[in-house]
Amino acid sequence: MGLLEGKFAVITGAASPRGLGKSMAQMFAAQGATVAILDLDPAAARAAAADIGPGHIGLACNVVDKEACDKAVATLVESWGRVDILVNNAGITQPLKIMDIAPANYDAVLDVNLRGTLYMSQALIPHMRANKSGSIVNISSVSAQRGGGIFGGPHYSAAKAGVLGLTKAMARELAPDNVRVNAVCPGFIATDITAGKLTPEMHASVLAGIPMGRAGEASDVAGCALFLASSLSAYVTGSEVDVNGGSLIH
Ligand code: NAD
Repeated sequence: MGLLEGKFAVITGAASPRGLGKSMAQMFAAQGATVAILDLDPAAARAAAADIGPGHIGLACNVVDKEACDKAVATLVESWGRVDILVNNAGITQPLKIMDIAPANYDAVLDVNLRGTLYMSQALIPHMRANKSGSIVNISSVSAQRGGGIFGGPHYSAAKAGVLGLTKAMARELAPDNVRVNAVCPGFIATDITAGKLTPEMHASVLAGIPMGRAGEASDVAGCALFLASSLSAYVTGSEVDVNGGSLIH
């Protein structure tokens, strides 16, 4: 019997083939969950859903668009009847120094990482509250905790620190309705989020700062998200769980 048998899970930004969200979708499905993959491109979302097995759903949803979030959730609630798990995983990053952050950079990074987490949560909270059950997992970053130092600029650190604050405040407010909210803080994980912009020098210096001596795998983060999504973590809420190979020990 899987850890998520009979559960319905929504994962945003999960179409990226080597990404954290896709790995979570695979792991959740292997544990018995039915999964909806939400991402910008409808064909990519559908392909990713088909790739993890039959019965899963791929939908277009730009998490910055509140109406789109509400619409995607309405579609899912209509076909599933319930949603048990939300992973706010969609995110973007940019390697900028403080004085190079233009208004458009700030808007893009804060919007996808932080506003998107708020909008998707707001879309699902009424359903979770009505069911008196739910687990929301927000993907923050070690950059929030240690002030960058990997790839993302200060606006990324700020957005991910905002995700931590939002997580904790939501956890407090939703706990009486048995909706748990937790954050995962990944360190340096081998995915395509750096879009080829990580130079060999940057790569070497990041690795030098990781006591475990390797980049994380997407599955390292997915395992932690699975724990927080499942009833193994039934009494865990408002926490931030580090998955960073020791790159921040605090
Ligand atoms: P990725 O780029 O592989 O995947 C991110 C996905 O989000 C993509 O499929 C993209 O299309 C989607 N997306 C972007 N904007 C969106 C929007 N507005 N609406 C819906 N989907 C959108 O990145 P990843 O490394 O898998 O990152 C996943 C999450 O983990 C992000 O929140 C990222 O900030 C966080 N994170 C990653 C690392 C790392 O080292 N890879 C470290 C810490 C935190």
